[in-house]
Amino acid sequence: MNEGNLKICSFCGRSHLEVEMMITGINAMICNECVDQAYELIHQKNNHRTAGEELKVKKPKEIYEFLNQYVIGQEEAKKIISVAVYNHYKRLMQPHGDDEVEIEKSNILMVGPTGTGKTLIARSIARLLDVPFAIADATVLTQAGYVGEDVETILTRLLQAADYDVKRAERGIVFIDEIDKIARKGDNPSITRDVSGEGVQQALLKLLEGSIVNVPPKGGRKHPMQEFIQINTKNILFIAGGAFDGIEKIIAKRLNKQSVGYQSKNLQQIKDEDLLQYITPEDVKKYGLIPEIIGRLPVITHLKPLDKKALKAILTQPKNALIKQYKQLFAMDGIDLVIENDVIDYLVDLAYHYGLGARGLRSLTEKMLQDAMFELPGSGKKKLTVDLEYAKNKLEKLDLKKLKLSA
Ligand code: ADP
Repeated sequence: MNEGNLKICSFCGRSHLEVEMMITGINAMICNECVDQAYELIHQKNNHRTAGEELKVKKPKEIYEFLNQYVIGQEEAKKIISVAVYNHYKRLMQPHGDDEVEIEKSNILMVGPTGTGKTLIARSIARLLDVPFAIADATVLTQAGYVGEDVETILTRLLQAADYDVKRAERGIVFIDEIDKIARKGDNPSITRDVSGEGVQQALLKLLEGSIVNVPPKGGRKHPMQEFIQINTKNILFIAGGAFDGIEKIIAKRLNKQSVGYQSKNLQQIKDEDLLQYITPEDVKKYGLIPEIIGRLPVITHLKPLDKKALKAILTQPKNALIKQYKQLFAMDGIDLVIENDVIDYLVDLAYHYGLGARGLRSLTEKMLQDAMFELPGSGKKKLTVDLEYAKNKLEKLDLKKLKLSA
């Protein structure tokens, strides 16, 4: 409004002499300070909304129930991870007051043979929480200056999964696979990696402990001329997984030392695969992870090898079970695929006998149906019944030991 020659802000009533700038509209004016305030208000509201919307935090039991739809068995791991993920997101919601107890981040270490569901669990959690998810293979990581991938590329992948929305990426989940392969060479003969394993661990530590990292947005090598995006890893949940081949011996040795008399006799009866349930950070340290890394992975859980019952369930039960997937593929061509029950048992027996695990089930099913998937579309056939004879005919000629390598 104009009063004499004075321009008056319609919002705060100050004149143009009291502020830096006055913006004139059709019937009103606004000063730069009111613009700033309005911007801040809008920004706060938006931030508030994102926090509420993005973090659809589920209770541990809900997380567990969700995992149950996809992951067979692994009860302990599912429960421990449900609680850890819940606590992680509670931590993110914590108001930032000076007198608050600071909740530490609960990154997770999953120990168990390959193909038992580690990646599947991590991926399912990310799906449930609707946060960006990236998988990194620790074996290709190198410390800066060596041939291979810098650890920062893990965050590049997360950023890509978040459509380059930095705020979203900063609340994502990273799964680091095969972390056992960067263990330093200790007294463990199964480690083949040279001492540089420790260099990679140091580089990883930087991510795990929460710091601001310069990330090359397109991945690849860091280059001085490249523009970086800064990502704060403080709130990213890291889940690490590894088979830790041979760690049972370390566990057994420690338990042996602790136990006396009849207890140690009992120890002899525990199967190797059952020893994993007693794993402690100390064992992981002996295996060759540096204490600082172990300290940043405070939640340790184990996964069990899959028995025949579990393998059968994996084929048929989960929401996206393999057999359901193939039925769907055939249905899309108008073909009703029926796989007889004894064929399922046959596939399970083969996978178990040749040690192909759950991944092998996919290769086996794929090989069994390959010819049909090539021949049937467009043939007018409306139904395919796979009986034991059909399955044996397709699979017996294969060299299943080779399948193990590719499974
Ligand atoms: P890991 O990360 O432990 O090596 P994955 O999670 O990648 O193993 O498992 C490979 C595949 O095998 C999965 O995509 C899934 O199809 C199947 N699978 C493995 N373990 C399970 C399980 N416990 N429940 C259901 N499916 C499983």
